[in-house]
Amino acid sequence: MKVPDPIQLTQELIRYQTINPPGNEKEIAEYLGKILADFGFDVRYPELGKNRLNIIAEKGLSASRPPIVFTGHTDVVPLGGSPWTVDPFFAEIKDGKLYGRGSSDMKSGVAAMVCAAIMAFENGEPEGGVRLLITAGEEIGCQGARELCENGYNIGKARGLVIGEPTSNKPFIGHKGGLFMNAYCTGITVHSSMPHLGDNAIYKAARAISAIESLKFDVEEDSLLGYPTINVGVVKGGLNFNSVPDRAEFTIDIRSTPKLSNEGLMQQLKKAIGEEINLETFVNLGAVATEATDPFIQMVNKEFTKLSGDEAPARAIAYLTDASVLQPWYDNVSTVILGPGEAEMAHQTDEYCYVDKINECVKLYYNIIFDGKQNI
Ligand SMILES: [Zn+2]
Repeated sequence: MKVPDPIQLTQELIRYQTINPPGNEKEIAEYLGKILADFGFDVRYPELGKNRLNIIAEKGLSASRPPIVFTGHTDVVPLGGSPWTVDPFFAEIKDGKLYGRGSSDMKSGVAAMVCAAIMAFENGEPEGGVRLLITAGEEIGCQGARELCENGYNIGKARGLVIGEPTSNKPFIGHKGGLFMNAYCTGITVHSSMPHLGDNAIYKAARAISAIESLKFDVEEDSLLGYPTINVGVVKGGLNFNSVPDRAEFTIDIRSTPKLSNEGLMQQLKKAIGEEINLETFVNLGAVATEATDPFIQMVNKEFTKLSGDEAPARAIAYLTDASVLQPWYDNVSTVILGPGEAEMAHQTDEYCYVDKINECVKLYYNIIFDGKQNI
């Protein structure tokens, strides 16, 4: 049996339309699962919902040493409002770039981890083995990873966690958490000629938004992630110019650090905006961080430097990943975010990734699987 080519596999994956919503990650999961099963992996398919499957694939596990765990997601974001100049699901290669929705975020990363894992067992016996967690529904609040962790599927232990999100193959050691909320307040509507008889919901929202603008969270600086941030992104309220509005709503986006939990930040927010505002949380993901001096990170950095000749950045990335769910579940395991895609291409029109980076990433993953003791 021939080990799949990571470029061709990336192209095949892009051709599965897995825009989330609705996702429809069942067929792509069965396709990947079959490849892994053909190479002797033990494959399970925890269901996320109708026509949606996650994959847990394991090989070479041992009682004495936990495996390296790789994770990636198969869903992609919608195409956006601007027209594409290429077919987003054809996976065309032009001038060293592979185009398509999900090419960078992150079907190239999934293909690289699948190929590296297969090759590792074709060429040797990685001590402790490998587990792949390929999730559905990452793009909307890490639903697939939550399903794996919270609903009783056995995902075992991990000695290191690799998140294959787009980083141009540079290893990053953390990211902020996210606490996203809809806020709303209510009032009493009357004709605008008699505002003293009503209760203006927009004024309440405006007071709260103003308080948010000047809110400084009481928390120390994190050496990797800095300070938490807060932003109001959308405001809506009122129906017509000559009524006192009885409802106003806005969104709140908080980015957290390990220095204060999302719950702690929420308490400070509530104190700042008062009782008039109702909050509904729709994403609640914690910050992710591993010390730059951690032995697993050091090993990954060394492999990166060997391949690229560059120093590892020892920095955090700007987006959220399944690590928010998986790192705490694996007892705060050492976690690196490292994948072949381009971060600035994620969610963009005419998304692409570099073909060379996919091959380079397979090597990096392969070397990481062997803790740097066996290289290609
Ligand atoms: Zn992603």
